[in-house]
Amino acid sequence: MKKLKFLHSLKFRLFLLMVLFGVLPNIALRTGILASYGNKAVSNQSIDISGQAKMLGNQVVTYDYIKDTSIEVINAQMEMLSNIYDGRIMIINSSFQIVKDTYGLDTGKTIISEEVVKCFQGEEITKYDSSNRYIELALPLKKADSDNNQGVMLISVSTDSIMLNYDYLKDNAMIIELACLAVIVGVALFWSGRLVRPFGKLTKYLEEVQTEDEEQLMISDYTETEAISNAFNEMRGRMRVIDDSRQEFVSNVSHELKTPLTSMKVLADSLLSQGDVPVELYKEFMGDIAEEIERENKIINDLLSLVKMDKAAGDLNVSIVNINELLEMLMKRLRPIAEKQNIELVLESFRPVSAEVDEVKLSLALNNLVENAIKYNKPEGWVHVSLNADHKYFFVRVEDSGVGIPEESLEHIYERFYRVDKSHSKDIGGTGLGLAITRNAVLMHRGAIKAHSKEGEGTIFTVRIPLMYIV
Ligand code: ADP
Repeated sequence: MKKLKFLHSLKFRLFLLMVLFGVLPNIALRTGILASYGNKAVSNQSIDISGQAKMLGNQVVTYDYIKDTSIEVINAQMEMLSNIYDGRIMIINSSFQIVKDTYGLDTGKTIISEEVVKCFQGEEITKYDSSNRYIELALPLKKADSDNNQGVMLISVSTDSIMLNYDYLKDNAMIIELACLAVIVGVALFWSGRLVRPFGKLTKYLEEVQTEDEEQLMISDYTETEAISNAFNEMRGRMRVIDDSRQEFVSNVSHELKTPLTSMKVLADSLLSQGDVPVELYKEFMGDIAEEIERENKIINDLLSLVKMDKAAGDLNVSIVNINELLEMLMKRLRPIAEKQNIELVLESFRPVSAEVDEVKLSLALNNLVENAIKYNKPEGWVHVSLNADHKYFFVRVEDSGVGIPEESLEHIYERFYRVDKSHSKDIGGTGLGLAITRNAVLMHRGAIKAHSKEGEGTIFTVRIPLMYIV
């Protein structure tokens, strides 16, 4: 497995590329040069021999050697030629009889080969037999001014000496090539290791780095590693923000849960420390303790809703819900609270609306908006809730005549535990989680929420949710 993994590494591929690009041209060069050397040497040899043969042929004709093969001058020349070229010369007369063979083997025999026949027809033949390593030459013997062929001169010359040179060159080229290969492999090993080193640095850094480390990652050996470094630094920035907000959330939760407990403890302690406590005081303090318990309960419930929504993101229990009815139910539930503060609560439905929503989550979200509108209102104030829709979305608008939200707080109201006026909110009994829950629920429905507010005049929340649930 590890071996296979190595084959997939950048290092190995670089190594392979370098070796291939280093070695292939070498091989091509060696084979090309050797082949052209071989061809050229053979053709030079052929031209040489052909020239010599023609001169000899002329003399053979001039001296009428075919009829008298004892002419010394020509015999001597033939001997010399066949010695120089390590070859065999045969003279054949017009009756296809070998009249002279420098090897002395076939004199007097008859030869009817293809070359000889063709040569008697006037053709001059040069042939190279590469497998047996010899050049064969057939030359017609005739007077310059006549067409009459007196005979044929057959010369075969061994190319062993050429091949000896060829083999020597080939061996040398091979040695040089092997030496080059060794050097190339060495260089490729070195460079492939060196070129991927920045990635090693990157991995090492990423293995050791901690989220809170301040030092920025910057490996700028390549544009690519620089881009990775930048992307990583950005990602770590985002993680830090998430981490910070998580820590803040945890410390907020602990603080919020502890506050009612501290109050209860103070109330209980003060009752216990006094000897004879009148029943009225007991009742009053116990009432206060019950209120704190109620508050603690509310915070825990809100937290649970929020956590549930975080966990079940995308996990909505969607069904077709009549939104008009949902809002009417909601108003019915909240009317007693509104009446306590003499607040007028009005629902206006412009059209019947049915939509694919998670009934529980949506009603929790809208409940928080209307409850806030009542809670943060002025005495004798009003809350107007309206429902409208187009072909794609339905809109719920919650408008109040309340205290309003300062402009600088508007962007924070959806944050967990955020409250505009902490002291005041405590009497009102908020947890700072309501709008966070609302926003989560709206976003889960792929909807949007917006707030407009003027301090001292009132606030308008608008929620827009698609009629059809978008997966
Ligand atoms: P809480 O539990 O405190 O109501 P929310 O998350 O519901 O928490 O709201 C956050 C803060 O936004 C509230 O503390 C309040 O200051 C402000 N707020 C929300 N709704 C309104 C509103 N209709 N009018 C004025 N202020 C509001």
